[in-house]
Amino acid sequence: MTLDIPTMYFVSVVTNVAMTLAVVTVALRQSIPGLSQLAWGLVANSGYYLVLGARGKIPDVLAVGVGNMLGSLTLSLILLAVLCCRRERLPPALYVVPVILMPVCSLLLLDDRESRLIVASLILFYQIALILWALLRPGYLMVGRGRMIMAVTLVVGMTTMAYRALALWLGWHEISPFQSRDSLNTLFYMINYLGMFFLAFGFVLKTVEQSAEQNRRIALQDPLTGLANRRALFETMDGLYAKAEANGQSLSLMIIDVDHFKRVNDRYGHQAGDIVLQHVATTIKQRLRANDIVGRIGGEEFLAVLPDTPNEGALRVAEELRRTLESAPVTVDGQEISVTISVGLYSSGRLISSQTPDAMIATADEALYRAKSNGRNRIETVEAPASA
Ligand code: GH3
Ligand code: MG
Ligand code: MG
Repeated sequence: MTLDIPTMYFVSVVTNVAMTLAVVTVALRQSIPGLSQLAWGLVANSGYYLVLGARGKIPDVLAVGVGNMLGSLTLSLILLAVLCCRRERLPPALYVVPVILMPVCSLLLLDDRESRLIVASLILFYQIALILWALLRPGYLMVGRGRMIMAVTLVVGMTTMAYRALALWLGWHEISPFQSRDSLNTLFYMINYLGMFFLAFGFVLKTVEQSAEQNRRIALQDPLTGLANRRALFETMDGLYAKAEANGQSLSLMIIDVDHFKRVNDRYGHQAGDIVLQHVATTIKQRLRANDIVGRIGGEEFLAVLPDTPNEGALRVAEELRRTLESAPVTVDGQEISVTISVGLYSSGRLISSQTPDAMIATADEALYRAKSNGRNRIETVEAPASA
């Protein structure tokens, strides 16, 4: 397939302007990190097509120098969009140098189209690889198909750049004049055009998916301790309960309440109280196994569910927790705050149908009440009668 390149440049400008307007409309309504950088990237890309489309009508020095600079600038802005979205930074030299190097090399090689295209391909290859690296390395909110669309697009882009550099260097392709309808020009053009489209689309999709994931996490997480909140915990608990019932396994459940916590607040202040709660949460989380679940169900009250755990095992865990917290006071602003907990423990034995999750929590709560009235800093347990 061959394409009329100048016509396609014109179409590209129109497409880019339309995409820019779409992105700017979204960016103006919600402040999504990275979206304004993407919009500027699309503007630079429109400029790139405009300048290259005007080649022959404006001096070559201008068309080649400015055109290539805008192409490189587009990729640097997309990199910035990705970084901004991940709340990350990179040394500016990594994305500024290519934007300067590109026009300088292009102008130095103005009369040697083959070398110029090879050098440009290599610089673009580096820039695309950098975006891919920034996009894929582990970090903030790694979710979604938008990210995968971007990654695939970038890999295709890198492959094209590598192929163009190699093909010209090894003479697989005759070097043809700019705007001619040869296959290498057409391939480069199509990849460029579709690549920009998929990058922008992937990026917008990625930001939408990220904010949905963020909202989901906020809705299920206790902001102070990072543990599951009441709602999330009860949802997960229903699943664990059903599984235990189906497999005839035991389930243990403990309500952990900080003793005399009101005094901590009164004596050291609410902020110190918050630090104590975070400390208790971390200690509980560290002691539990990966498939146990724990959440904050009230001010200074936590609920832990231990699947497939009979009473002796759960009691050991609760006792260790109690001792760990008792023996390690929390230091806040140079003051040592001692923390103790009381635990109400309920173990189901083999689950029988009368033990609904709500009934189990109510029973654990009764045990907790006993722990409090028997002097605090202790564990009281209730074991279900053996199943019929
Ligand atoms: P007990 O040993 O009987 O459990 O006594 P307590 O003082 O721990 O229990 P009480 O229910 O009387 O007080 C709980 C306190 O926890 C009261 C409330 O102000 C405080 N609290 C609840 N949520 C938070 C929070 O998020 N941060 C802080 N700092 N305090 C909280
Ligand atoms: Mg308490
Ligand atoms: Mg309480």
